[in-house]
Amino acid sequence: MVQLSGKKIFNGIAIGKIKFYARTENKVTREKIEDTAAEFARYEAARDTAIEQLNELYEKAVATVGEDNAEIFNVHAMMLEDDDYNDSIQNIINTQGVNAEYAVAVTGDNFADMFANMDDDYFKARSADVKDISERVVRVLTGAEDNNEIGDEPVIIVADDLAPSETVQMDKSKLLSFVTQQGSANSHTAILARTMGIPALIGVEIDASWNGKIGIVDGYEGKFIVDPEMEILQGYFKKKEADDEQKKLLLELKGKENVTKSGQKINLYANIGSPNDLGSVLENDAGGIGLFRSEFLYLESSTYPTEEEQFAAYKKVVETMGGRKVIIRTLDIGADKQVDYFDLDKEENPALGFRAIRICLTRPEIFRTQLRALYRASAYGNLAIMYPMIISLEEVQEIKAISKSVREELKAEGIAIGDNVEEGIMIETPAAVIIADELAKEVDFFSVGTNDLTQYTLAIDRQNAKLDRFYNAHHPAILKMLKMIADSAHKAGIWAGICGELGADTELTQYFLEIGMDELSVSPGCILPVRKLVREAE
Ligand code: PEP
Ligand code: MG
Repeated sequence: MVQLSGKKIFNGIAIGKIKFYARTENKVTREKIEDTAAEFARYEAARDTAIEQLNELYEKAVATVGEDNAEIFNVHAMMLEDDDYNDSIQNIINTQGVNAEYAVAVTGDNFADMFANMDDDYFKARSADVKDISERVVRVLTGAEDNNEIGDEPVIIVADDLAPSETVQMDKSKLLSFVTQQGSANSHTAILARTMGIPALIGVEIDASWNGKIGIVDGYEGKFIVDPEMEILQGYFKKKEADDEQKKLLLELKGKENVTKSGQKINLYANIGSPNDLGSVLENDAGGIGLFRSEFLYLESSTYPTEEEQFAAYKKVVETMGGRKVIIRTLDIGADKQVDYFDLDKEENPALGFRAIRICLTRPEIFRTQLRALYRASAYGNLAIMYPMIISLEEVQEIKAISKSVREELKAEGIAIGDNVEEGIMIETPAAVIIADELAKEVDFFSVGTNDLTQYTLAIDRQNAKLDRFYNAHHPAILKMLKMIADSAHKAGIWAGICGELGADTELTQYFLEIGMDELSVSPGCILPVRKLVREAE
């Protein structure tokens, strides 16, 4: 068994026979010719045939992967008509008195090198395209066949690199996955893998001796396993079964409403930790983002992230989500999320210590920077702000005063901010539950952090695995609290949701509907399973 890692292009699990995709090399020799004009005409005829082939490929690709992805073949056809490219070929034929195959191969290599040396990732990725078109013309000139047959059984294609024309011509029903050594996340092959929805990895050290062996591609973990041991193979069959089930749900439920049989609606939003998670948010048809844990910006950085850096990240998320709501939680550092540059003291009980809103209210310069970035981003979409770890009315009033002064400061600077940016709080301490009716009068919404609420209510450290047997996620105290929270919110005319892990617990979906929760925010992959239960509920 061999296990390797690579860069994830698309998630999913593939198990199957490995087909090592070896490209037939067009051996081009340099030959002297007399009639250079006739040789260039031979090139032009081959080029026109290649353009015809590309037009056919375009039609075929439109039908299988859509117009946007098929566009690459139009681009290829245009590259073949490019004056610089054609002049170079003519020049080599005329000045050196050599055959067209040689002139095309040399031009293709030169142009590919030129693209590969560019700084821009997009142009770098075009290097493979120019090689691809040149090889196509050489094939036409030499009469060689396209070698795209991948056989009758479904396979995992392992290759040094794949040209877009190679991937798109492969029979999709036989393709389980792509694993390549070269290629970039920006390449069309990667884009096609994503569009086709098959797991794919790049940057894997490949070996031709794997041909015919069993392989596992784990597109979630970025792993490629060759010749797996039985136990591992069985584990992956189970994973794949669960994965397939999830994907089936996804197909059936995408675009459908979150509505019960009797017409009760609930919002299903996604929790994210960074803008990189946006793909799966859209893929899983989330109605919005119910919790964006903004601490990732602080955890990834070696110093305080600037207003500009934060603004760019928040703006990207709200813009990507269009008009859908994006609830961004202000920083929740401390406890298990430690950052060196915050220089926090070592504490006896960090979960009960200097964390989250307590840091923000003690060090308002950090808080104000984040709020400025958030309000600036609010001009670009439907952004809401949420504050964590609230225990008192005074905290909420202090937060509101700071947030108001940040808004005024931005307005005075002539900076646009969104209209009516909702401000809500997380309910994750028993104290907040008990005074929920008072807090509800001060804010626009409640979002229950059941992870911390359970920890603080049951006095069970959420990090301590030894306490598992005492941990009851369905403890009646928690369930009663959830009802109290929803009732207090509704009495004050605001909405309430759940953004802790419990929100995705499908054994409780019915209960959440009964107590009138307005929103559940769950990991992207949990949206459709919860939607299914909502739609089955009375
Ligand atoms: C929670 O406590 O339930 C929550 C959503 O916040 P975090 O898990 O980030 O503490
Ligand atoms: Mg929490």
